[in-house]
Amino acid sequence: MIVNKVETFVLSHPLEKSFHFSQHHYDARTICLTKVTLENGLSGWGEGYGPAGPISAGIEFLAPLIMGGSPLEQEGLWRRMYRHSLDHARSGVMLSALSAIDIALWDLKGRILNQPVSVLLGGRNRNSVNAYATGLYFSECDDLCTELADEAEGYKNEGFSALKMKVGLGVDQDIENVRAVRERIGTGMALMVDANHAFSFREALRLAEALEPMDISWFEEPLTPEDYEGYRELCRRSPIPIAAGECERLRYGFLRLLERRCVDIAQPDPCAAGGITETKKIADLVDSYGTDFAPHCWGTCIAVATSLHLLSNWDPLPGRLFNREPILELDRTQNLFREDLGSPKFKLDQGRIQVPDGPGLGIQVDEQMIQEYRVDISEG
Ligand code: MG
Repeated sequence: MIVNKVETFVLSHPLEKSFHFSQHHYDARTICLTKVTLENGLSGWGEGYGPAGPISAGIEFLAPLIMGGSPLEQEGLWRRMYRHSLDHARSGVMLSALSAIDIALWDLKGRILNQPVSVLLGGRNRNSVNAYATGLYFSECDDLCTELADEAEGYKNEGFSALKMKVGLGVDQDIENVRAVRERIGTGMALMVDANHAFSFREALRLAEALEPMDISWFEEPLTPEDYEGYRELCRRSPIPIAAGECERLRYGFLRLLERRCVDIAQPDPCAAGGITETKKIADLVDSYGTDFAPHCWGTCIAVATSLHLLSNWDPLPGRLFNREPILELDRTQNLFREDLGSPKFKLDQGRIQVPDGPGLGIQVDEQMIQEYRVDISEG
């Protein structure tokens, strides 16, 4: 049961309609997956979050370190990869590469032991997870307020109980957009906003104060991820809970956020923060600071399954008879690889998504589709 092959696949699919947020413009979805195969032919899949080409190169750099290793001892393999890249890559895409391999090893571990990852993490505390819709990006149109409100109403009609919209066009425009969405969806639906670190401290505080009467559940990434002191001060003064962490890596990155009390909600991306092995540790660290845990998830069905298993296992502290429920980020922007690459497909049922029951991640990857959408790495 030892690893004898590691492959990387960069896949790309052009979007029917391009969109943007406060930092970048998207006209295609391009992702990097890895497939780790054992000498007996059993294989597992993983995904890295971020620029696909550099992640693929990172996987090729790390691959020799796990050859001959056993997925049943994935933590030792994690440490070997981490120590080998530490001097030059304490953060960034190399950790997305490490994350992808770690997720594939967990998928394999589950397949070897015939158990879902959530059970191997210590047990399932729930078989389905509440999901929120991530959407309401910006696009070229005549009336953005109406377009955003229409989209939000669609998620409400689908059965979502929560949704997250983008802000970061400018404080005044953002206030108008959020007001239009809140007025359309009414008061019964949770609404979050995400700036993707677009604001200065003063702008963020002004927006938080203006949005407070609109019942906003969290304000995500208001400031640049480097500004820990700004986050600490904003978290203290904002009337809306502050969320961040999709740009952080490893438990050390989250410790910097937590010990300064920078966030109310910590958002590691398991496909970038260090895989399942490290995100489990981050969740425990987050718990020990009395902070909420809501993983960032913006990838394929592999990323969604990874978050589902972690959230099935996570049981928020301090705990109570009717404990608060975790929430899954379910991106609704066009992504063929989230919708069609794996089976079984995820279906929203009364606002919840079922945690896969099969061994490992519980996802069967369509390898024909992998070949169909595979692109040369230089295009990734
Ligand atoms: Mg975000």
